[in-house]
Amino acid sequence: MAILRDLTQVEVSKVRVQITLACEECKQRNYTMTKDKKKHPDRMETKKYCRFCKTHTPHKETKK
Ligand SMILES: [Zn+2]
Repeated sequence: MAILRDLTQVEVSKVRVQITLACEECKQRNYTMTKDKKKHPDRMETKKYCRFCKTHTPHKETKK
């Protein structure tokens, strides 16, 4: 069982990468999250609440 669990974690770390999401309006980096590289090979864009704009804005993945 222990071996199986270790293998799974290695697999997960291969595809899950940490990304930073920045507000498109004010360019503030508001969120960090992990994404599945296989599902989202390109830059992610998602609507999130920006506390600087005080509204939901598109947030785009940026490099760290
Ligand atoms: Zn903003």
